[in-house]
Amino acid sequence: MPANERDCTIRLGVSACLLGEMVRYDGGHKLDQFLVNTLGRYVEWVPVCPEVEIGLPIPREAMRLVGDPEAPRLVTQKSGQDYTERMQAWARERLEQLAQVGLHGFVFKKNSPSSGLFRVKVYDEKGMPGRVGTGIFPREVMKRFPLLPLEEEGRLHDMHLRENFIDRVFAYYRWTCLLAENPTPGGLVQFHTAYKLTLMAHSPSHYQKMGRLVAQAGTLPWEELVEKYGYSLMEGLQVMTTPGKHANVLQHLMGFLKDKLAPEDKAELLDLIADYRQELVPLIVPLTLLKHHLSRHSVPDWVHQQVYLHPYPKELMLHNHV
Ligand code: SF4
Repeated sequence: MPANERDCTIRLGVSACLLGEMVRYDGGHKLDQFLVNTLGRYVEWVPVCPEVEIGLPIPREAMRLVGDPEAPRLVTQKSGQDYTERMQAWARERLEQLAQVGLHGFVFKKNSPSSGLFRVKVYDEKGMPGRVGTGIFPREVMKRFPLLPLEEEGRLHDMHLRENFIDRVFAYYRWTCLLAENPTPGGLVQFHTAYKLTLMAHSPSHYQKMGRLVAQAGTLPWEELVEKYGYSLMEGLQVMTTPGKHANVLQHLMGFLKDKLAPEDKAELLDLIADYRQELVPLIVPLTLLKHHLSRHSVPDWVHQQVYLHPYPKELMLHNHV
């Protein structure tokens, strides 16, 4: 991992009401305990409330999305006032400030016409909620930061989606730390090697494609190669892990111990991997035993350096649930 990783801070943008700020249209908040009490121990939050930051009061008239779901308008529910252009213009400026701060992800408030990322109701001219779309601010965030990991607080209550998001945030953080060091081809190879098993648990085809890309160092222009690599990294990690893919990775790791484990230890580990594959035990069970054996036997250094073995702080307990 990059030498300066410890100097970087993981910064996540967040809809301000999720941190308990009383900024909602009705004067309330939508405090999310997981974000504040658990994830908040490892990241620095950068709160953003688009409606308040464009100058609207608290409380205020509620808004909704209206019209074409691909290019919806942001309109107040009763008086029909249209804030679309005002919010877009503010967002472009605000995102330039956030680019200076350096974000590694963003958590949005679900269902909000200003902040919602997925399946926000879009009303037709008669006031009927026929289609769904993306809120005005996240739409601008996606345009400005196409690789940034994005999620909604509601979806983060699903442990698989939570694990996927945290994986992407930590990867993006490590990737941006590496970029800040002006990486050499050797640095990129090191990064790619460290992410080998993580990528295999998400998308083996991305891992292979990225390996071919890294091998083109010296033939492809360096900036183009780095840009393509970053895109593939974040795209590959968006593919969900499955027990089958994790089990394959665990067996691959076990291969390094094949002449070293006693037959009963080998049988025990294989049984636990099989139980995990059938979802009878969580990932943490075979992974912990495997790490125990890896720490006691001589295996290549690159195995110990796998992000897969230490992806994020263990207190987040994500491997206890997938
Ligand atoms: S959902 Fe967005 S616009 Fe609405 S109160 Fe929360 S941060 Fe502000």
